[in-house]
Amino acid sequence: MNKFNNTVSFIRDQFKTPEAFIPLHEPRFKGKERKYLIDAIDSTFVSSVGAYVDKFEKMMCEITGAQYAVATVNGTSALHAALIVAGVKPEDEVITQPLTFVATANAIAYTGAKPVFTDVDRDTMGLSPAKLQTYLQENYSKKDGGAFHNKSGNRVAACVPMHTFGLPCRIDKIQHICEEWGIPLIEDSAESLGSTYKGRHTGTFGKLGVFSFNGNKTVTSGGGGAIVTDNEELAKLAKHITTTAKKPHKWEYIHDHVGYNYRMPNLNAALACAQLEQLDYYIENKRELAKSYRDFFNNTGIGFVTEIEGGFSNYWLNAVYLKNREERDQFLAFTNEQGVMTRPIWQLMNKLKMYRDCMTGDLEHAEWLEDRIVNIPSSVRV
Ligand SMILES: *Cc1c(COP(=O)(O)O)cnc(C)c1O
Repeated sequence: MNKFNNTVSFIRDQFKTPEAFIPLHEPRFKGKERKYLIDAIDSTFVSSVGAYVDKFEKMMCEITGAQYAVATVNGTSALHAALIVAGVKPEDEVITQPLTFVATANAIAYTGAKPVFTDVDRDTMGLSPAKLQTYLQENYSKKDGGAFHNKSGNRVAACVPMHTFGLPCRIDKIQHICEEWGIPLIEDSAESLGSTYKGRHTGTFGKLGVFSFNGNKTVTSGGGGAIVTDNEELAKLAKHITTTAKKPHKWEYIHDHVGYNYRMPNLNAALACAQLEQLDYYIENKRELAKSYRDFFNNTGIGFVTEIEGGFSNYWLNAVYLKNREERDQFLAFTNEQGVMTRPIWQLMNKLKMYRDCMTGDLEHAEWLEDRIVNIPSSVRV
């Protein structure tokens, strides 16, 4: 009898799936998805202009409380565009966490800036304000309203914390530090749609926030992303550069900036609108599952990761702590062999060959988590 047998049985019970494969996260299409998609097709507006794109942006403003939202083809492009709009340039530095999905670091690399990795908090698994402050104090000086590296003289052009698995990080403290140092704050909220901290939606604490609507996220548009901001000028610029930077004109093609074809197609927006209508239900459903998991793991020797005080998580992906890497590997092997999909947390970005030479702070919490965290099935239950 394997020591993780009870866990597998418990997960199978939660999904009322005694034998079949249980994925980590699969989408549900029980709302108006078909209706809106057919409507988009019938309208002939299937591409990057259409009523659903506008509706999607309005819905994102209502949900997050942000003044402006710009729809994009995916979360990675949203991050890339947000960094450009915030003024990130080649040779700049952008501070982020090493424990994140690779897209965060990749988007920084697209701009020509260098990612710098500082540690996460152990409980939130998101950027640690204390570690960020220490790293800045030890390596940077305040000059001309910004933060510049003591040796290279490079500017910190942005700070990009991430709300890991939907759990809000200590974003108010991070916001405070960024203000103190004159560092533009961009939240990678790709995983945290519907998550709030101290009553405020994640993604709205900084200059810009970014969301993803990939197929595995809480709400999907097939592929899609969004940038949110309260700054009208930044919103306009984001819309401009994500739509090939074309100046309005009756017939001429005039482009005044290196532009990107990052606009979300109307077909995807139709799917997103139908999904967003169900966001409250999804979150309620996911939070119930998280509560069941928390109660179950209480007396198993396996830790369950929960939101911190003041945080309200969408529990996109539930996560557990195993004792050490060896136990983690045993857990991964057994659950996957049993047809219950589980996955380890990401390898730290500074260990990937593209980012091996990047500067880092001390990463004790990220390393501790890398050895122990595993995601378990988290789909909305029907
Ligand atoms: C999913 C995700 C992204 C990228 O989103 P895509 O829509 O897949 O491009 C970026 N950052 C994080 C943390 C993510 O989880």
